[in-house]
Amino acid sequence: VTDWQGKHVTVAGLGVSGVPAAKVLHGLGARVTVVNDGDDARTREQAAELQALGVTVRLGDGATLPEGTELVVTAPGWRPDKPLFLAAERAGVPVWGDVELAWRLRDTVPGKPVAPWLCVTGTNGKTTTTQMLASILRAAGLRTAAVGNIGVSLLDAVLGDEPYDVLAVELSSYQLHWAPSLRAHSAAVLNLAPDHLDWHGSMEAYARDKGRVYEGNQVACVYNVADKATEDLVREADVEEGCRAVGFTLGTPGPSQLGVVEGILVDRAFVENRGESAQELAEVPDVTPPAPHNIANALAAAALARAFGVPPQAVRDGLRAFTPDAHRIAHVADVRGVAYVDDSKATNTHAAEASLAAYGSIVWIAGGLAKGATFDELVARSAGRLRGVVLIGADRALIREALARHAPEVPVVDLDRTDTGAMLQAVQEAARLAQPGDTVLLAPACASMDMFANYNKRGDAFAEAVRELGAGA
Ligand code: ADP
Repeated sequence: VTDWQGKHVTVAGLGVSGVPAAKVLHGLGARVTVVNDGDDARTREQAAELQALGVTVRLGDGATLPEGTELVVTAPGWRPDKPLFLAAERAGVPVWGDVELAWRLRDTVPGKPVAPWLCVTGTNGKTTTTQMLASILRAAGLRTAAVGNIGVSLLDAVLGDEPYDVLAVELSSYQLHWAPSLRAHSAAVLNLAPDHLDWHGSMEAYARDKGRVYEGNQVACVYNVADKATEDLVREADVEEGCRAVGFTLGTPGPSQLGVVEGILVDRAFVENRGESAQELAEVPDVTPPAPHNIANALAAAALARAFGVPPQAVRDGLRAFTPDAHRIAHVADVRGVAYVDDSKATNTHAAEASLAAYGSIVWIAGGLAKGATFDELVARSAGRLRGVVLIGADRALIREALARHAPEVPVVDLDRTDTGAMLQAVQEAARLAQPGDTVLLAPACASMDMFANYNKRGDAFAEAVRELGAGA
């Protein structure tokens, strides 16, 4: 679309993506109608703001496609099986998400350079990898930002005054579902484990949406050698001529791969000097925290940066300059020789397994909302490292039963509580189970919303409880 004048666009959903999208489209001259399921004080406030501009807003009816709609722009979280989208499909009306809209508008600001996109998706590690990538690009002197599912919104990055040489873009499976024409410079799928299956309908549909990130890639499709499903997605993707498949591995890299050799991150995919077979990039301690899954994130970020032509030195400098966001394997304190680590962001079993694998002897605090997950594999693989377990939250019985099946000898304290104050008791119980040298690890493998507003609040409660424990020590 180049001519937006008078175009009838329906924006599905108010909120963080809907309101800015409606404003931008209205500014371009489109006739915008916003539809929203909810109708409460907050949405009425947002509606009033848009109505003052001349945007039509329909509250309390997100199901009906307004007459004459030529394009639907949806909030990424809206499920594809909603009646609105079925109606759009029947009427032959395209549906774009916030990412698709930003992609289509990327070259519309006169005089602003059009920045290529380096995209990151996967079940876990997206935010960390995207931020590592932005840090590396910055170390190379490039103007960049971490955008998409984090930080700056894509619309702001694309339409704002700030010029960028390249964007580090985090994309969720929802966003990819609604971004049919996105074509990245290069992209990485970090890993694929069951998550959000209720939304996508099946593991196949989830994988297919993740795989969209590779479609039309120009330079490199970066995949995880240890996760064959990601490599399969590369094979199925339709890419530009000359675009390469580049693997990352925690082991010794093959040709066209990045990997680790004797504690050094090396690149065998983008070697400048023809005489050499590998390029040294950084050392394991340059990565924070140096846990295996995080080294994998660093390698994926390095692969994307190298695909963009970033020199090895900048990879090392960028990784050294990177500090992870809160609640991602954050060391809170040592109390009586026991380390307390907050990985509240481990909201699914795949993430929790990665963080449990990073420690030796662990008292594990887990539980919350399971979102349909099963815990047998996680518990079976981690049993040998468990000193003890403290369970909290709504779905803790599922974890307790898996522990009974696969780790019957591990002591379990099942706190029959879902109130916020349960975290203090959980930490106290964990402290009783722990011995000097152990790690007490909050890696719930579950969502937090049964007890807390979000994973940040859950992690804060943990840190607060650890401080209280320390004060009493
Ligand atoms: P996302 O943005 O995909 O949710 P984050 O970078 O915020 O990912 O990390 C979320 C959690 O996932 C971390 O707290 C950690 O427990 C886990 N994690 C991070 N990287 C990986 C990885 N490569 N593989 C498995 N788990 C990971």
